[in-house]
Amino acid sequence: MKIACLAGDGIGPEIMAEARRVLAALDLPGLTVWEGDVGGAGYRRHGHPLPPETLEMAKAADAVLFGAVGDPECDALPRHLRPEQAILGLRQALGLFANLRPATLFPGLETMSALRPEIAREIDLLIVRELNGDVYFGEKAIRTLPDGRRQGFDLMSYAEDEVRRIAHVAFKAARGRTRRLTSVDKANVLETSQLWRDVVIEVAAEYPDVALSHMYVDNAAMQLVRDPGQFDVIVTGNLFGDILSDQASMCVGSIGLLASAALGETQTAFGTKGLYEPIHGSAPDIAGQGKANPLAMILSLAMLLRHSLGREDDAGRVEAAVAATLGDGVRGADLGGSASTHEIGEAVLERL
Ligand code: NAD
Repeated sequence: MKIACLAGDGIGPEIMAEARRVLAALDLPGLTVWEGDVGGAGYRRHGHPLPPETLEMAKAADAVLFGAVGDPECDALPRHLRPEQAILGLRQALGLFANLRPATLFPGLETMSALRPEIAREIDLLIVRELNGDVYFGEKAIRTLPDGRRQGFDLMSYAEDEVRRIAHVAFKAARGRTRRLTSVDKANVLETSQLWRDVVIEVAAEYPDVALSHMYVDNAAMQLVRDPGQFDVIVTGNLFGDILSDQASMCVGSIGLLASAALGETQTAFGTKGLYEPIHGSAPDIAGQGKANPLAMILSLAMLLRHSLGREDDAGRVEAAVAATLGDGVRGADLGGSASTHEIGEAVLERL
């Protein structure tokens, strides 16, 4: 088992150090851990945010554990040299098209949610977002019309195989949970969405044990704050998923708690190859102060254990240790507490 750890910038190295301690405590047999430079750190040491040696390491690994990239000192660089390009480059090079973002309210954090406690308590969902297609990757431009007016356009499109493969990921994920899948689209007005819905229904024939429903995206946005407990797995396109997953994340208390996985079709000896990272960025405002919450990073490690290394038991143990840490009131500044990054990591280790 080979893991490439790319800590990146800002709080990335601080939270990665805590995840590495958890990984070491699991003492997995036959595990090799590599370290590589990425983001602003990659640019400083190698002249590129995704240096070739880091890319080769990521390709050779079974999984990539990724901290965060983003460095205000790099903001003036040309776009292709900015730290954030590293993550796009990795997604592309590794063929990662499925973004899994779980959102669960940990017991004890009900009052930290933007929602009322009795509504927040019910949140336990997984958003499966398509990452490689949709309006973000279609033909786009700002052009001048014959009458002199400027017009902007971005082509929204999905090919059926792109929908089919993300639908399979979502149905399989639903099988590992409570077997309910909601496909979110805008099929009442968009042809792209109509094809999306048709293909999801075709794929559903292979998963008769999963209950499939469909919801328009505007209604889904409303239902996510009205009654998030009704959802188990949500599958949707790149644009709608981008917005809905950020919305869901704010319902669970802190951005420092949210992990994510990006998966492709490459199978390893133990599972599916993937890249795992917290959904937050490099948080330059608190970097180097010991204030970062490492739990999103540690929960990303749990996802890595589950999806890429086939270690469901270890993933569950890590998640239970995180839940116990929060349940015992160990919290950082983001959750109104005073525990440092290292103290939170220590608390997880003790419970593990
Ligand atoms: P951010 O997520 O880094 O920070 C937003 C706010 O949340 C900040 O106040 C920060 O202090 C806080 N925060 C974030 N993570 C935290 C944690 N673990 N514990 C406690 N508080 C935490 O977003 P931003 O400020 O908009 O962006 C900062 C940099 O990160 C930018 O360069 C941006 O491009 C980059 N970024 C990178 C990724 C990535 O690596 N995948 C994702 C988003 C943003």
